[in-house]
Amino acid sequence: MGVAARVEPSVEQFVAAPLRKMLIDGKWVQAASGKTFETPDPATGKVLARVAEGDKEDVDRAARAARRAFDEGPWPRWTPAERERLLLKIADLIEANGLELAQIETLDNGKSLGESQNVDVPSAAATFRYYAGWVSKITGDTNPTDPAFFNFTLREPVGVCGQIIPWNFPLLMAAWKLAPALACGNTCVLKPAEQTPLTALRLGELLQEAGLPDGVVNIVPGFGETAGAAIVQHPMIDKVAFTGSTDVGKQIHRESAGTLKRVSLELGGKSPNIVFADADVSEAVKGALVGVFFNQGEVCCAGTRLFVEEKMHDEFADAVAKAAGSMKQGPGIDATTQVGPLVSQEQLERVTGYLDIGKKEGAKVLTGGERNTAPGLEGGYFVKPTVFTGVRNDMRIAREEIFGPVVALIPFKDENDAVLQGNDTNYGLAAGVWTRDVSKAHRVARAIRAGTVWVNCYNVFDVTSPFGGYKQSGYGRELGRAALELYTQTKSVWLRI
Ligand code: NDP
Repeated sequence: MGVAARVEPSVEQFVAAPLRKMLIDGKWVQAASGKTFETPDPATGKVLARVAEGDKEDVDRAARAARRAFDEGPWPRWTPAERERLLLKIADLIEANGLELAQIETLDNGKSLGESQNVDVPSAAATFRYYAGWVSKITGDTNPTDPAFFNFTLREPVGVCGQIIPWNFPLLMAAWKLAPALACGNTCVLKPAEQTPLTALRLGELLQEAGLPDGVVNIVPGFGETAGAAIVQHPMIDKVAFTGSTDVGKQIHRESAGTLKRVSLELGGKSPNIVFADADVSEAVKGALVGVFFNQGEVCCAGTRLFVEEKMHDEFADAVAKAAGSMKQGPGIDATTQVGPLVSQEQLERVTGYLDIGKKEGAKVLTGGERNTAPGLEGGYFVKPTVFTGVRNDMRIAREEIFGPVVALIPFKDENDAVLQGNDTNYGLAAGVWTRDVSKAHRVARAIRAGTVWVNCYNVFDVTSPFGGYKQSGYGRELGRAALELYTQTKSVWLRI
C-alpha cells in the first residue's frame, strides 16, 4: 500500500488495514457480496486503502437499521438537550482528531494538507457545533384560528435521510449533510464517493465514540450506479440529499418520483467572476486565483468564467497568468503545496480533455494547458494551473463544468454586458463582483441569478449563511437556518376547546 511518508502512525494504521468496513446498525461489517474496491492516492496513483463495496443489499440493511432507529430507537425521543450535547461532542472529537482527519483527507483526495487542516476539518467541527445550537430552537407556531379550536404546528423530523456526497470536500460534505439531519432528529444512510470514502468512515468511528445510538447513522461506501441508486429507490428512505453533478442530480430527481421522496440537490456551476476596471486590481487578481484554483478547481462554485472589463483585460490576464504559473504544485501532504493533484485518473482525463477542447475552439493558453509530469509527479493526477484567454461565452470551455484548475477569461464592455454574459449559463450557483463602486456592486449582485454573490471577495463560507443553487445548480439550501427546512416537516394539530 502506497502510504506517503510524514503521516501520523494512526493514519498509516487506518489506511493500511486489510479492509475498511462499512457501518450498519452500529457494527462494522463487510459488504453482503464480500466485494471490495481500492481507493488510490491521487499524488502517486498507488493504492491507498481497500474498502468494502456496498450495493443494494447493504443499502437495504442500512435503510432498515435507520428506519428502526427512527421508528423505535431512542434518538428521536432524546431530549433536545441530550441531542445537543451529543452533537457538541462530535464537534469536539473532530477537533481532537483534526490532524489525523486532515491527513487522511489529503491522502485520499489529494488536496493540500493546509486546506484539509485549516479549512475542511475546522469547518466540519463548526457545522456540528452550529447545528447543536439549533436542536433546542426548532419550534412551531400557535395560529390565530377560530377560538373554538386551539391550533398549533410541530416541526417534526422527516425520517430516514439518504445522503449522497461527492469527493471534493468529503469530510465537510458529510458534516453539511449529517449535522442538520441529526439536529432535527432524523436518522441517516450516508454514501461517500467511491474516490474518497475514508474520512466518512473515520467520522463513523467518532460518531460511535461520541455515543450516537446504533443505526442512527449508517455509512455505506460504494458506487453511484449501485449503492447510490439503491438509496434513491429505497421505499424506507424518506428524503435524499445529494451533492454532485447536474446529470446525476437530474437522474435522482426523476427516480425519486417512484417513492415521492423529498429531494434537495446541490449541483454544478459555471460561475461568473466579474472584474470591473474600477476594482482594486491586486485584490481582484488574488480573488480570481482563489476563485478558481482553491481545491485544484474541484469546487462547484469555482469562478471559472472570469469576466474582465475590456479596457484592462490584457494586463489583468497577464497578472493572473503570472501568478497562476508560479503556484507550487505537488503532493497535498507536502506543506508547501498550493495546488495538489486531481482526485482521480478519470478526472485527470476529463480536465485534460477540456484543455484540448479549449485549444481546438481557438482559446489561447497563457499558462499551463497540460498535465504536469515534472519529476516526482509523473504517477499522480496533476494538471498545471491553466489560464485561457480569447474565450467566448458560447464555447464549451465557458459553458460546461470542467472541475479542475482551469479559468477562462472573457472580456466585457460595460455593466449591462457583464450581467448579460454572466447570466448566460444553465447554472446559477455563485458569482463574484469586483468594483469600488458600491451602487454598481449592489446592482450587479441583484441582477445576477445565482444562489450566492460575493462582492470584493470569493469562496467565503460560513455555517450561518445558506448555500445552494438557482437554475440547474439545484434546489434547497444547505447551511444556516435554511437547512432546517430540508430536514423537518410541519404537522398542524387541532384541538376542539
Ligand atoms: P457524480 O455526480 O457522479 O458523483 C457525486 C456522488 O453521486 C457520488 O457519491 C457518486 O457515487 C454518486 N452517484 C453517481 N451516480 C449516481 C446515481 N445514479 N444515483 C445515485 N448516486 C450516484 O460526480 P462525478 O464524481 O462523476 O464527477 C463528475 C463531475 O460532476 C465533475 O467533473 C464535476 O463537474 C461534477 N461534480 C460536482 C460536484 C459539486 O460539488 N457540485 C462534486 C463532484 C462532482 P460514486 O462516486 O461512488 O460513483
